[in-house]
Amino acid sequence: MSESLQPIYEEVLRRNAGELEFHQAVGEVFESLGRVVERNPHYLDESIVERLCEPERQIIFRVPWVDDAGVVQINRGFRVQYNSALGPYKGGLRFQPSVTLGTVKFLGFEQIFKNALTGLPIGGGKGGSDFDPKGKSDAEVMRFCQSFMTELYRHIGEYRDVPAGDVGVGPREIGYLFGQYKRITNQYESGVLTGKGVGWGGSRARPEATGYGTVFFTERMLAERGQDLDGTRVLVSGSGNVALYAIEKVHQLGGTVIATSDSSGVVYDSDGIDLDLLCEVKEVDRGRVSDYAERRGRSAEFRAGSSIWQLAASTRVDVALPCAIQNEIDEADARALVDGGVLAIAEGANMPSTPEALHVFQNSNVLFGPAKAVNAGGVATSALEMQQNASRDSWSFELTESKLEAIMAGIHERCARAAEEYGEPGNYVLGANVAGFTRVADAMLAMGVI
Ligand code: NDP
Repeated sequence: MSESLQPIYEEVLRRNAGELEFHQAVGEVFESLGRVVERNPHYLDESIVERLCEPERQIIFRVPWVDDAGVVQINRGFRVQYNSALGPYKGGLRFQPSVTLGTVKFLGFEQIFKNALTGLPIGGGKGGSDFDPKGKSDAEVMRFCQSFMTELYRHIGEYRDVPAGDVGVGPREIGYLFGQYKRITNQYESGVLTGKGVGWGGSRARPEATGYGTVFFTERMLAERGQDLDGTRVLVSGSGNVALYAIEKVHQLGGTVIATSDSSGVVYDSDGIDLDLLCEVKEVDRGRVSDYAERRGRSAEFRAGSSIWQLAASTRVDVALPCAIQNEIDEADARALVDGGVLAIAEGANMPSTPEALHVFQNSNVLFGPAKAVNAGGVATSALEMQQNASRDSWSFELTESKLEAIMAGIHERCARAAEEYGEPGNYVLGANVAGFTRVADAMLAMGVI
C-alpha cells in the first residue's frame, strides 16, 4: 500500500474496530489506488478517499416477529447507505445468520465501485439481517419480511434507496417486502425494489443477470487470449441464484460444469452437472447438493465438507467461477487451481478470494476477474428494471439480455483501459478499482463537501 494511503487505512481500522471483512475490502481497493492519488493529488487534498470510507448513513434496527409456535423472535436489521454521488443508493439485502454491520459495510463499499463501473446512474448501498430463512415456513418468512419493511420503508424510495435481493433474499422475500411497502405507503412505487416478479414490475433476465454476466465477462477475458468457453471444464461453487444461471450460460456456450457446491459440501459429476435436475432439487424442493447426488445416480459423487477448488489437483479444470460467499477460496485452493493449469477465474460472488489467494492469482499468469467487475451484471439489470418501471414499460428477454451483454462488454473495456493506462495491461483488479474509483471521486469533487 502506498505511503500516502497507509495512515488513512490505519484510521479506517481504528474507527471500524473488529469489522474484518470491511477492513479486507478497503485494503484491497487501497492496494490499487496509490498511483491514482499520486497522479491526482487533489483527491487527497479534498479528502475524497477518507470520505469514501465513511458511509453517508448507517441504519440499525430491531426486527421483532412471531414464529409458528407463537414465540417472539428478535433479529437485527441493517441498511448502509454508502454513497449517493452517482444516483440513489442501490444494493441488495442479505438474510443470513452471520450478517453483521461489518458484513454490510464491506458489501456496501464494494457496491459503490461496482455500480460506478456499470456506467449507470446508481449509488452504492447494502443491507440485510441476521435472520436465517433456511428451515422457516413461508408464513414465518412473510412475518419477518413485513416486520423488516415496517422499519425500512421510511428510509427507502425510488429516488432515495433501492434495495434488491442477495444471499437468502430471492423472489419470495422480495414479494413480501414489496407487498408491505405498498401497504404502508399506499402507493404502487415499482421502482423502490428490484428483483420483482415479471408479472408485477420485474425485469425479464434479472434472475439470470448476475450468473449470465459473470460468464459474459469470462468470455471477454478469454477472448483477450484468443480462447473461448467451448470445450472447457468449469467449476461453479454455490448452487444459488448466481451459480445456477452461471451454469446455464456456460452450458449454452459449449463448456461443461463438472462440479458445484453448497455450504455442506461438493458434488462432482463426471458427466457434467444436469441443470434441470439441480434446479428441481434446489428451487422446487429447496434441497441440498447431496440430494442432487443421490438422485443423479452413478456419475455424481457428494463429498461432505470438502473444497470444490481442490478438484483441480486431480482432474482437468479450465475455468473457476466462485459464486457462493466471501473468502471461499483460500491460499491452498488458489495454489491448487494455478498449479492445476486453470486458465481463468471470475468472481461471481462478492470477495470470494482471501487476500492470500488473490496474491497467488496476481502472481501467476491466470486471467483473474474481480467481483466488482464480474458480477456487476446483476445490479446493472436492476438499473434496467428501474428504467422499465420509470417508463411503465416491459422489455423482451432478448432485448434485456442484449443490453446486459453490452454493459458487461463496457465494464470489461473500462477495466482493461484503466489497467493499460496505469501500466499493467491485463490486471483487471487494478483496472476495476481505478475505473470505479475515478468515476465516483470526480462526481464527489463536483458536488463539493457534502
Ligand atoms: P443464494 O442465497 O441464492 O445462494 C448462495 C449459495 O451459496 C447457496 O447455495 C449456499 O449454500 C452457498 N454457500 C453459502 N456459503 C457457502 C460456503 N461456505 N461454501 C459453499 N457454498 C456456500 O445467493 P446468491 O446466489 O444470490 O449470491 C451468491 C454470491 O453472489 C454472494 O456473494 C452475493 O453477494 C453475490 N452476488 C449476488 C447477486 C445477485 O444478483 N443475487 C449480485 C451480485 C453479487 P447453503 O444453501 O448451504 O447456504
